[in-house]
Amino acid sequence: MKLHEYQSKQIFSRYGIPIPRGRVATTADEARNIAHELGGRVVIKSQVLVGGRGKAGGIKLAKDPREAEDLATQILSMEIKGLPVRKVLVDEAASISKEIYLGITNDRSARRPVMMASAAGGVEIEEVARTTPEKIIKAHIDPLLGLKDYQARDIAIGIDLPKHHWKMFNQIASGLWHAYQDCDATLAEINPLVVTEDNRLIALDGKMLIDDNALFRHPDLADLRDLDVEAPAEVEARKYGLSFIKLDGSIGCMVNGAGLAMTTMDIIKLFGGEPANFLDIGGGAGSDKVAAAMKIILTDPNVKAVLLNIFGGITRCDEVARGILVAIEEVKPKVPMVVRLVGTNAEEGLKIISEANMITADTLVDAAKKAVFATNPQEAGRVIS
Ligand code: GDP
Ligand code: MN
Repeated sequence: MKLHEYQSKQIFSRYGIPIPRGRVATTADEARNIAHELGGRVVIKSQVLVGGRGKAGGIKLAKDPREAEDLATQILSMEIKGLPVRKVLVDEAASISKEIYLGITNDRSARRPVMMASAAGGVEIEEVARTTPEKIIKAHIDPLLGLKDYQARDIAIGIDLPKHHWKMFNQIASGLWHAYQDCDATLAEINPLVVTEDNRLIALDGKMLIDDNALFRHPDLADLRDLDVEAPAEVEARKYGLSFIKLDGSIGCMVNGAGLAMTTMDIIKLFGGEPANFLDIGGGAGSDKVAAAMKIILTDPNVKAVLLNIFGGITRCDEVARGILVAIEEVKPKVPMVVRLVGTNAEEGLKIISEANMITADTLVDAAKKAVFATNPQEAGRVIS
C-alpha cells in the first residue's frame, strides 16, 4: 500500500525527522487559510500516488495566501498520470541550497534492507542508478542490529555532507530506519532531503510503501488507505478477502488457490488466450464470497468469457456452485461460462449448476480450450488442432 506524501511525512516527523510546517486541504478556500496561518511563501503540492508531480505541474510555489488559493484551484482540477487530484498539501516553502536523496528498501539479493543516499537528490533515484550509479552510497542494515551510527556517518561522508550536519543527518537516517522497520515498510524515502539556505536539514518530500501482508498488525496504517484513488474492483475484492489483480485479457478467471490461479492463467495463454484477471477466492470460500468474486469479474467490460477452475479441498464444490447461482441471478452474465469442478462434493456441485446455462469441462486443458474457443474460435481452433 502506498502512502501519500503528507501521510509519510507525518510518520517521519514522529521519528524525529524535521518536516516543513503545513497541512492538507481539499478546497482552495482551505488552502488560502492554511497559507495565511503559515505566513510567508508556501508550496502547494498535489497529493497523488505517483512520482514526478513536480514535472507534471502538480507542485507550485505561492508568494501569498491569494496566490495559494489560485494555484490550489488550478492543481485541484488537474489529473496527473490519469489520477485526479483531490487533495493538496500546503507547506511552508523552503529555500533550498542542496537536495539529497535518502531511502531504504529491501535488497532481496543481500537478504536485508539497504539504505541508499545520493548527493544528486530531487531527481528520481532510478534515473541516478541508470546514469551515474557510482553516485549512490549504500549501507546494508542488519535487521537485528539496526542502522549503526558509523553507517550513517559513512553515508554522510559519502555524499559530501559537511561535518556540522552529521549529527542531524544521523538522527534523520536513524529515524527513517525505525519508521521503516516499525511500519513494516518495503520503501521509506525522502527525496529531496534538503539543506536549506539557513543550514537546516528538512525532509521536503516523503514516500512510504507498506507491505500489504503486514497490514493486519497495523490497523492505524490500514486506515490511511485512500479508497478514492484505487480501482473500485480492487477495493471490493479486498472487502471480501479476495486476492484480485486486474489484467488486460478477455478471459475472466475464478480459481481457488494462488498456485492454481497461476496455472490456470498459464494454460489459457498456452492455448492462445489472455486472462482478464488473477483471482484467488481462497480456501473454504462460501457462496457469498463466490458471488462477490463473480460480480467483480463480470463488471470488467473486457471479459468475453469466464473460466471457473475449482479444486475442492476445504472449499466445497457445492458451496461454490450455490455462489455461482446467486451471482448469475444478480448479474445476469451475457458471456459464456466454462466451469471445471473437481474434488470435495464435485458431483453435488455439478448437479446444482446444471440448472444454469454453463459449459462444463472435465480437465483444466479441456476447460482452457473451451474458454479460449469462446472468446476467439479461430485462434483456439488453430492451436487445438
Ligand atoms: P515529486 O516531483 O513528486 O518528487 O515532488 P517533490 O516534493 O520531491 O518536489 C519536487 C521538487 O520541487 C523538489 O525536488 C524541489 O526542487 C521542488 N520543491 C518542493 N518543495 C519546495 C519548496 O518548499 N521550496 C522550493 N524552492 N522548492 C520546492
Ligand atoms: Mn520527490
